[in-house]
Amino acid sequence: MEIHEYQAKEILEGFGVPVPPGGLAYSPEQAAYRAREIGGDRWVVKAQVHSGGRGKVGGIKLVSDEHEVEDAADELFGKRLVTHQTGPEGKAVYRVYVEGAVDIERELYLGFVLDRKSERIMVVASAAGGMEIEEIAAARPETIVRSVVEPAVGVQAFQCREIAFELGLDAALVPQLVNIILGCCKAFEELDATMVEINPLVVTGDGRVLALDAKMTFDDNALYRHPQISELRDKSQEDPRETQAADRGLNYVGLGGNIGCIVNGAGLAMATMDMIKLAGGEPANFLDIGGGATPERVAKAFRLVQSDRKVEAILVNIFAGINRCDWVAEGIIQALEKAPVEVPLVVRLAGTHVEQGRKILAGSGLPLIHAATLAEAADRVVTAWRNSQGASVRAVMS
Ligand code: ADP
Ligand code: MG
Repeated sequence: MEIHEYQAKEILEGFGVPVPPGGLAYSPEQAAYRAREIGGDRWVVKAQVHSGGRGKVGGIKLVSDEHEVEDAADELFGKRLVTHQTGPEGKAVYRVYVEGAVDIERELYLGFVLDRKSERIMVVASAAGGMEIEEIAAARPETIVRSVVEPAVGVQAFQCREIAFELGLDAALVPQLVNIILGCCKAFEELDATMVEINPLVVTGDGRVLALDAKMTFDDNALYRHPQISELRDKSQEDPRETQAADRGLNYVGLGGNIGCIVNGAGLAMATMDMIKLAGGEPANFLDIGGGATPERVAKAFRLVQSDRKVEAILVNIFAGINRCDWVAEGIIQALEKAPVEVPLVVRLAGTHVEQGRKILAGSGLPLIHAATLAEAADRVVTAWRNSQGASVRAVMS
């Protein structure tokens, strides 16, 4: 789960990471009020969307009087910010964060990730802050410093000092960076984060080290331990189809193709997508309905897949292990009775009681296309989709 910059800053501040003074606003008037509260004569008005790269697309505005704060906020509210991370549809701005402008001397990069290879938290830092880490890795890989946190003892102050020296930080500033790294690591571990990123971490003209941006993501499977973090979920920032699926206990990722997939098991779902591509089609989604594949889940899956207007054919691929194909077949029939499918539908069943399952589907009178193997299923759904396209073209022409 992702959260907003202002939320991440509030959390990290609680762990001793210094941030500039700031306040959240839901309206331009409130933004101006926040600027007055903060004081000073320069502010930044920052669009709160779940994405980095806001600065490059006008989502971060530097202003120098209260009216400008209001105008900048006015311009941001309701806008859909399109960054390199959001996809072409962008993300809507419903909140802005007003922050005192900081006199920046140096911009650094500081990140904390779960490194799968070492199975440890890894601190990643670079003297080339401000750019995205992918850009740094491409353009200035020699500036990247990595340090692995030993779980038995936690991050050590000497490690933090080493990082500070490698970044070329002034000796006087080293203790501040050490505190920041210690604080971030503590937050990472205690809150089951999967990523903490401060980009940029800045050195100010008056010798302070501050987090100017903050991003945190959390392990969804550990959220039950952190109700105060779950509460920060902002559904306006998520793909509505994925939110809907998560609320129904399904694992869904929208992909933009036109062949809807309903599959049980993540591995089989990925293999199904591969086979569709191999057969010349484009999958509309990844959908793992879980091991059970009860009629209710199958029905929910059909509704979800069909809510994507791009879907022009559907492939159901179920492997029954503990489950039984005859139960799954009953489930498909019940689901289709509740929500008829208007596009070509290919069903492939395999596993326990497969013969009975196929018989039930064949006897149902539903316009299903059967397939015995995964390859056959992929071929048939792509062919059925092509034929249906031909049919609609013919219908338009006649
Ligand atoms: P994003 O990463 O989404 O573009 P950032 O919060 O990193 O957003 O802001 C982009 C840039 O704007 C920063 O690299 C920094 O140069 C500038 N900036 C952000 N916050 C402040 C601030 N409080 N004072 C001065 N400059 C800021
Ligand atoms: Mg940033």
